[in-house]
Amino acid sequence: MHLYLHIPFCASKCPYCGFYSVVRDGIGDYARLPAIEAQLRPADFPNAPNTIYFGGGTPSLLGPDGFEALVASLREDAGISLEEATEWTVELNPASTTPELLRAMRRAGVNRLSIGAQSLCDATLVRIGRIHDADAVRRGFSLARAEGFDDIGLDLIANLPGVSVHEWRETISDALRLKPVHISVYSLIIEEGTPFASAADKGTLGQRLDDDAEMDLLSETEDLLSSEGFVRYEISNYALPDRECRHNLGVWRGEDYTGLGPAASSRNGLVRRTNAPDLDGYRKALAKRTLPPAAELDTLTPDEDAKERFIYGLRTWEGVSPQEFAMRHPAAKPFVAEWENRLAVLSSLGLAEPFNPSTFQPFNLSTLQPFTPSPLQPFNSSTLTSRWRLTPRGFEVCDSVLTEFA
Ligand code: SF4
Repeated sequence: MHLYLHIPFCASKCPYCGFYSVVRDGIGDYARLPAIEAQLRPADFPNAPNTIYFGGGTPSLLGPDGFEALVASLREDAGISLEEATEWTVELNPASTTPELLRAMRRAGVNRLSIGAQSLCDATLVRIGRIHDADAVRRGFSLARAEGFDDIGLDLIANLPGVSVHEWRETISDALRLKPVHISVYSLIIEEGTPFASAADKGTLGQRLDDDAEMDLLSETEDLLSSEGFVRYEISNYALPDRECRHNLGVWRGEDYTGLGPAASSRNGLVRRTNAPDLDGYRKALAKRTLPPAAELDTLTPDEDAKERFIYGLRTWEGVSPQEFAMRHPAAKPFVAEWENRLAVLSSLGLAEPFNPSTFQPFNLSTLQPFTPSPLQPFNSSTLTSRWRLTPRGFEVCDSVLTEFA
């Protein structure tokens, strides 16, 4: 399983952001709360986590003491074996990155950093309400390298208002100069209820590319990053070989994950849970040693569960084989023929493609989940068709493509 920890604090709220966080200078007693939640959910920890991901919000607002306290309480209070995790990722905001914090993270076991730059143009950063400039991003990289981190990724947002194609190309060049091993490129989504949504309604947001031009921009971005050795291993994520984010890859491969903290989501077997985005409610419930309020708590049918996990797999460049998938998820068996037909239709439209996994080299296939056929479900590997994945064009229109399988 994979463990996600939500740190729901930000120094200020970015006007485009739809994630749950509250604006605070300090984190108070928060560092010890996720461990209490973990103690209340023993069934969500059937084994030690394979990966740990600290996201937010702004995890760097924990500071060195808060970070150490959080890790110590997960180990000591909740008894979670963190040592077995092969990847520890922290999302870093350049504005709150310090040598002391990086040192504390390194000591605790963090081996992967994801720096939230969003842009490397100072004027754009001001316009989108970020509280750091491009130099702070560069400084974040230098500080992290000085503390021994080499697995450093960068997050960027494409099609921000007022950013021309030429400026975006410069942002990509500037990003590559920092030599990250991972780059996430998200298109700006106007989230309901945000200041950006109000500005869009009033027509004051600033100029953005239309859908077709945005697709061209993302396609050009893929070409630029591919020429530097990056593989687009998921719709919005690029990595150099063997530098994929194992936590997110695990989630897309359909593995279970447990999220702790307000607004954190989990997938455990058939159960889907999302905690309410309510820090006070979270704190009060845990003070009484009761489970925090849930915004979503569903038990899926095995069919629904299989479909959801299949759709996640199609987000990745390693793709999915419907037949192999049905061996691991027997509830998917009735859908195999239908899925293969749909994939063939998508292939005729240039949106999906079959490929032979034995000739597939883009990234480390040895990290694919081992597949062991059950003795109760004998299968003959010669009957397996190839895996399927979306083409780059399919990635661009994934929202409509993936609903074909829902
Ligand atoms: S984008 Fe990140 S830093 Fe900005 S408000 Fe959202 S979570 Fe906080």
